[in-house]
Amino acid sequence: MKKCIVIGGGIAGLTAASYLVNDGTKVTLLESSPKLGGRAYSFKLPGKNETIDNGQHILMGCYRDTLSFLKLIGADKNFSFQKRLSITFINPAGQKLKLKSLPIPYPLNLLTGFLKYKALNFKERLKVIKLMLKLPFISHRSLVKKNVFEWLTDENQSEKIINSFWEMIAVGALNTNINKASAAVFHNILVQMFYGGNIASTIILPKYGLTESYVNNAKDYIEQQGGEVILSDKVEKIVIDQNEVKEIKTAKRIYSDFDFVISALPPYSIEKLIPSGYLNGEINFTYSSILNVHIWLKKNPFNEKFYGLLNSPVHWIFNKGTLINLVISNAGYLMDKTDNELLNVCTTELNKYCNIDENEITDFKILKEKRATFIPSVDSVYTRPPSRTEINNLFLAGDWTDTGLPSTIESAAKSGRVASELALGNIQT
Ligand SMILES: Cc1cc2nc3c(=O)[nH]c(=O)nc-3n(C[C@H](O)[C@H](O)[C@H](O)COP(=O)(O)OP(=O)(O)OC[C@H]3O[C@@H](n4cnc5c(N)ncnc54)[C@H](O)[C@@H]3O)c2cc1C
Repeated sequence: MKKCIVIGGGIAGLTAASYLVNDGTKVTLLESSPKLGGRAYSFKLPGKNETIDNGQHILMGCYRDTLSFLKLIGADKNFSFQKRLSITFINPAGQKLKLKSLPIPYPLNLLTGFLKYKALNFKERLKVIKLMLKLPFISHRSLVKKNVFEWLTDENQSEKIINSFWEMIAVGALNTNINKASAAVFHNILVQMFYGGNIASTIILPKYGLTESYVNNAKDYIEQQGGEVILSDKVEKIVIDQNEVKEIKTAKRIYSDFDFVISALPPYSIEKLIPSGYLNGEINFTYSSILNVHIWLKKNPFNEKFYGLLNSPVHWIFNKGTLINLVISNAGYLMDKTDNELLNVCTTELNKYCNIDENEITDFKILKEKRATFIPSVDSVYTRPPSRTEINNLFLAGDWTDTGLPSTIESAAKSGRVASELALGNIQT
């Protein structure tokens, strides 16, 4: 039986470990923190009944690797799936505007859905559809040097179309300003969302906290298949000799009995453990923040599961029944504000968009994730290291590796699957 050490228990590490144990490999997963899930987990607040996420996570129908992973570990039942794309946007006047694909065959369902999107006038909707129809014919090479804003402007999309349509998708998926994000990465995800079949553009939400929705299933699955999950044990040194990892030194012990190693660490951790010359690319990232504001209301006035706010600093509101969760992406400019200042930003928007008075708020909790995602900038996307390294028995996983995707769950799951396949292929031949 082959033996593998997986370092890091975020989605990438959990995916790699799950595929490896499924294939009969003996896996030891090492995680520095006392919990699994990395940047996607949930926890209970003292004195509250509800479990809250460190940040609301949205999946999409085009997340093929994530969905395969969830199925493998038996967690797909913990997610709620839309049958067809449906998003309710709210504009500054408080009007609700639906973007909804219709119950007719794909792709006409999406096109007619865009035609009915009332945040834009008819002429503007036609411009969106024109670019949508062009997407599969746009060459990747033509976008390499452009950011999202430059590309959309070149494609004749006006400021209003960008603000009321493209930016909502771009900021949600890329978590950065459209002047920084790579047009090539954005184009890639648009093609996956809108040309991947009927369900690719649909939204998938966890039914419970993230830990209950997938982390516990992954841990159980790995252990039931004979794997071992070790928490609160930080990898401090990776000993490399003659292009082979020989030892993994953690705070508690030294591991040397393994055939190969998968590192599923974030870029800022791996930088400290592996000299850059061994990676077939560069770690050259800057990061973007996400702010989550959990608010308890006396009475919840919302009917839908989530809403997008147009032209607001608050991008999304998620309705969790007893509480609501406001999400601000690309939130670096708010990170130094106090909790009360941030609550103020949210109450102003809740009042303007949803007519909710601040007296309705009974409690709140603010969570700041400073390094939530890397910025898929024009400069960094083409130097991302692939899974294969110069070290024969070391493979990389992590949302930041060269998956072609932005910093998402899908990128992490894809990287974990790719690293496990490469490792198995490499070792078994
Ligand atoms: C607030 C927030 C909201 C988000 N929303 C979405 C969303 O809606 N949709 C979406 O697709 N994506 C979203 N993302 C991005 C998504 O969470 C990440 O892309 C994904 O979780 C990254 O997984 P990963 O396994 O690559 O890395 P991580 O989750 O960072 O996992 C790395 C793991 O390595 C461990 N580690 C670090 N150093 C060591 C060491 N020396 N030894 C052992 N272990 C170590 C860490 O503790 C961590 O558990 C969001 C992220 C945040 C923060």
